[in-house]
Amino acid sequence: MPNSIADIYDTHPETSLDFAVVREAVKQGHKTPFLLIDPELARIKARRFKAAMPRVHPHYAVKANPHPEVLEIMLQEGVGFEIASIAELDLLLALGVPAREVYYSNPIKSSEYLRYAAGKGVEWYVLDSIDELRKIHGIKPDAKLYLRIETQNIGSDWPLSGKFGAAFPEAREIVEEAVRLRADLAGVTFHVGSQCRNLENWAIGIDNAERVFDMMRENGLEPRLLNIGGGYPVRHIKPIPSIEKIGESVQAALEDIPDTIRVMAEPGRFLVSDSAYMVSRVVGTATRHGTRWIYLDAGVFHGLMETVEGMQYEVYTDRAGTEIPCTVAGPTCDSMDVMMRDEMLPEDLQEGDYIYIPNIGAYSTAYASEFNGFPKPEVVVLRHGNRT
Ligand SMILES: *Cc1c(COP(=O)(O)O)cnc(C)c1O
Repeated sequence: MPNSIADIYDTHPETSLDFAVVREAVKQGHKTPFLLIDPELARIKARRFKAAMPRVHPHYAVKANPHPEVLEIMLQEGVGFEIASIAELDLLLALGVPAREVYYSNPIKSSEYLRYAAGKGVEWYVLDSIDELRKIHGIKPDAKLYLRIETQNIGSDWPLSGKFGAAFPEAREIVEEAVRLRADLAGVTFHVGSQCRNLENWAIGIDNAERVFDMMRENGLEPRLLNIGGGYPVRHIKPIPSIEKIGESVQAALEDIPDTIRVMAEPGRFLVSDSAYMVSRVVGTATRHGTRWIYLDAGVFHGLMETVEGMQYEVYTDRAGTEIPCTVAGPTCDSMDVMMRDEMLPEDLQEGDYIYIPNIGAYSTAYASEFNGFPKPEVVVLRHGNRT
């Protein structure tokens, strides 16, 4: 019998920041827009991730939210890290993270960045091409390497395949070149796509990785690392599979992977998203061709970038008026700065009203700019003293 919908989708009580706490914090008069974050919720998510897949060691994807307090919580929870740049590496080193806990998972790295990371003691580097293999090998011949392969991204809100990942024939050429160079190619990784709502994708990725492991062994290499990447979803509008269900599928797929292979993952969004709310205000309203437009001080360039790719957030207000379909836009003069269409909002919304967006701790402030002279949202960290 197939699992019931309730079984597959997230029935686990979520750890979202309490709306009452958010409203209380707003009374302290912070300038909007701001991201209100409770890093303790990220701690709960880290523990939940580990419990869901005990064999898998999480490494936080710093790009999701590089705020130092988030990084500190991950460090306290024994979570490792995954970086894409040397600025991210410096943030971690400043917190005392050992360089060996940092995996350099950007498949394309400049020589300058590689030299810097190697000098700081980073041991593990990803690659997905012969060019990158030769580049890393030329700078750090003893680098420990893992190969990013293509995998199915069906059912992910952010398919990533296409930009990165070697196809099987390319993987074979890379393995052969690594053997020729005597490079330490020791692992395989994949990314199922961000906000992946297809429970099967990780198991499919693990199967593909096993094929590459077999091919590595045929060429005399001994695999030591399986990195199952990121993509674990958080709840917004659409149903998601719970991390517990994903964990069951992953743990089952790992049964054929020998204990000599370390298994890690790179969750970003999952660990940090539901620890934060965006608090924004209405800066103006208009009616255009019969449609109500609501303009906020947070927009596409100021914390709500993911809406451009179709991310749908929940929206709360303090008004109780009849809900009508609204277009919600940001404060800039760029026509791309429109976040929502046909969003049901109270018809009595006015300038100065607060707009609250939950579960937006990932890829929000991290993406923000100061385009058009509007400030980035400030990050306000909730202390446990001011939780009620
Ligand atoms: C962005 C990224 C992640 C994190 O992805 P999420 O969808 O936030 O979990 C993990 N690994 C790599 C290589 C990435 O680029």
